[in-house]
Amino acid sequence: MPAGNRNFAPSMDSIQAFYPLLHQPSRMVITTHQKPDGDALGSSLGLYHFLVRLGHTVTVISPTNWPDFLNWLPGIETVINFESQREKSRQLIADAQYIFCLDFNILHRTKHLEPLLEAAPAKKILIDHHQEPQVAAFDWGISDTSKSSTCEMVYDFIVDSGHDGLLHPDMATCLYAGVMTDTGSFRFPATTASVHRMVARLKDTGIQHAPIHDAIFDNFLENRLRFIGFVLLNRMDVLYEFNTALMYITKADLQRFQIKTGDTEGLVNYLLSIQGIRFAALAIDRDEERKWSFRSKGDFDVNSFARMNFEGGGHKNAAGGRSSDSLEMTVNKFREILPSYLNQLQ
Ligand code: 5GP
Ligand code: MN
Repeated sequence: MPAGNRNFAPSMDSIQAFYPLLHQPSRMVITTHQKPDGDALGSSLGLYHFLVRLGHTVTVISPTNWPDFLNWLPGIETVINFESQREKSRQLIADAQYIFCLDFNILHRTKHLEPLLEAAPAKKILIDHHQEPQVAAFDWGISDTSKSSTCEMVYDFIVDSGHDGLLHPDMATCLYAGVMTDTGSFRFPATTASVHRMVARLKDTGIQHAPIHDAIFDNFLENRLRFIGFVLLNRMDVLYEFNTALMYITKADLQRFQIKTGDTEGLVNYLLSIQGIRFAALAIDRDEERKWSFRSKGDFDVNSFARMNFEGGGHKNAAGGRSSDSLEMTVNKFREILPSYLNQLQ
């Protein structure tokens, strides 16, 4: 972190301390991590609808594009993609009084937005559930790794600040979409009784959940299913001695099946469906880098694994990382370091 940057407070104040400021109409920006997923965009738009109702001037800026399967979210037409609208984004960020940072906790996860966020005079509010937040970058915030999703945290923010009565179907749809995707459809251990109580409250606004599942999971093109068949057959290695399954996808594979942002989401989870497999790793040869997705079951901590070996991080059972080596080199590196984790994997 740059020393002496005037925008970095020594530490972050509690989110409750921000509540009084909700009543003063302000210029606000909401942003999230690059290649936003359902939780990132669902929480951003859920919060957007809430803040608009309170009378603020609000814009959601995404650092990059997002998967097509999120293009139906209420309000998505207002979201600005920084990569295609740089000047407008720059202006909005420079003019904002407050910037909400959702579903990430280290500024570099916003990719090319990072220098703009660092330079912005706006105060920053963090709402996130990943480990090891860069607290000095934020003025107020809440960071809680026990939360199922950032959507759950935005819901808590709305209710705790005394605005339960403002919940409405658009808000509820966005929050439902994000909590549903981040909990693996209400399956992962972080799906607490509170999550189910929140879902009940969201449904009380009148939303139908089945069309949300359809829009996200049953709305792909044929080529994606053929691609999954191809990679399961040709690009998967099961390393039984390490209870690990590995998959790697080349640029040629992505081109052959015309794979777009979002088409590979969830792919890594197939590996964990093999009996006995506790660690799943997927490497994809993206444009400028090789992107890793890691998943685990039980005690194996993929957040530490990703941090230690592949410049990444995330949660204990779901993390990501990257490498600037070739696909072959990064996959070989993975195979070489695996034996040093033998004890933890058995
Ligand atoms: P995914 O594999 O779906 O891209 O990411 C899994 C989880 O790890 C998500 O919660 C995501 O936010 C986090 N994550 C993915 N890539 C990175 C990364 O490079 N750094 C950090 N700190 N977290 C990441
Ligand atoms: Mn999330």
